[in-house]
Amino acid sequence: MAFSSKKATSLVIKNVFSQWTRGIASISTLSETHQMLYKSCRDFAENELKPNAAKFDREHLYPAEQIKQMGSLGVMAVEVPEDLGGTGLDYLAYAIATEEISRGCASAGVIMSVNNSLYLGPILKFGTQKQKEEYITPFTTGEKVGCFALSEPGNGSDAGAASTVAKQSGNGTYILNGTKSWITNGYESGASVVFATTDKSKKHKGISAFIVPKPTNGLALGKKEDKLGIRGSSTCSLIFEDCEVPEENILGKPGLGFKIAMMTLDSGRIGIASQALGIAQAALECAVEYAGKRTAFGAPISKLQAIQHKIADMALKLESARLLTWRAAYLKDLKQPFSKEAAMAKLAASETATFNAHQCIQILGGMGYVSDMPAERHYRDARITEIYEGTSEIQRLVIAANIIKQYE
Ligand SMILES: Cc1cc2nc3c(=O)[nH]c(=O)nc-3n(C[C@H](O)[C@H](O)[C@H](O)COP(=O)(O)OP(=O)(O)OC[C@H]3O[C@@H](n4cnc5c(N)ncnc54)[C@H](O)[C@@H]3O)c2cc1C
Repeated sequence: MAFSSKKATSLVIKNVFSQWTRGIASISTLSETHQMLYKSCRDFAENELKPNAAKFDREHLYPAEQIKQMGSLGVMAVEVPEDLGGTGLDYLAYAIATEEISRGCASAGVIMSVNNSLYLGPILKFGTQKQKEEYITPFTTGEKVGCFALSEPGNGSDAGAASTVAKQSGNGTYILNGTKSWITNGYESGASVVFATTDKSKKHKGISAFIVPKPTNGLALGKKEDKLGIRGSSTCSLIFEDCEVPEENILGKPGLGFKIAMMTLDSGRIGIASQALGIAQAALECAVEYAGKRTAFGAPISKLQAIQHKIADMALKLESARLLTWRAAYLKDLKQPFSKEAAMAKLAASETATFNAHQCIQILGGMGYVSDMPAERHYRDARITEIYEGTSEIQRLVIAANIIKQYE
């Protein structure tokens, strides 16, 4: 069932105030809009993603058809207003949709998350009307996806140390030189938000953000990385050699790039937390279903207390992480600070995904270790959520810095 964005928007307006009084304890306590979106995404994931996820993984296959269908469903541009071609919903809706899509296929989850949070997000917030029309609207349907190029071979966590440079040519353009590495959606992307230093003397305050369409002269792609998990999404380097980009493609203004990157990652972490929740939920379901059917010593293993404790711990961590994730999304929707909360959500959800996938394999025993069952894929998919958009170590730094600041 396609999700009707117009109807949804009016429902959002109707329900926006009742959300707080209802609470966010479970899907059934959320607004009708969020419940409808949840159901549409769950049905889609069950029918179109879950049956194909193993194939996408095995064959490193970008799920082009499914991404287009996700465009029709409205989940490739969840917070983009309808007049720009998006669905016009809030970040909680985005979190719910990303979790449900990732429950079916973690690769589709990250493709969606990068397009929504890392590509469309900063253009929506900092772009001019012309940039929005050119670089948002065509990226709302799933036909085109965007990417976000911050990391480099020499610096990931230390993003302020970017060595890619952009020099003014004198004829209304910047010339970009350098390599951006690990770029999700790099192969398929129609455009990227790229960070490059325009004034080295100002260190991170000399970084600027550019919108770079693809193809563009002077922009080449590196090899597709052969990854442990999320193998249906592409990851590659973007190599800039005298790549000429018009000055009008600067996002915000020169020198604002680092701030744009950090603000973008705050929102992106809600997306990755949601992706991790989807993987963790899929692992829990796989474990519970198997435990009910598998017998040992004359009874289903779900009757064994040792197995029950594992299931309890998995569910506890999952539901705790989901509440943290939804809280971060709510705060963002209310335009309140949410950096610490997004870092907490991402940290908790990503470690839960790894934990749940690990326990799922344990509950399945030998069957957990082979690709006939999805457990081993969940385990491989989970691992990246602790690394990208800030490692777990970086999330802890963000959380601690925010807490310490509160006491100064
Ligand atoms: C599949 C995949 C997709 C990705 N997609 C994108 C993308 O679309 N766009 C993009 O820009 N990047 C992307 N990345 C890059 C990703 O964000 C970085 O890999 C990540 O931020 C870590 O950087 P690094 O790999 O350079 O590790 P490093 O920064 O070298 O870190 C190595 C280790 O040191 C630890 N460490 C570093 N600094 C500190 C510190 N101050 N305190 C404590 N510990 C620290 C880290 O936590 C880590 O354990 C992707 C990466 C992968 C693997």
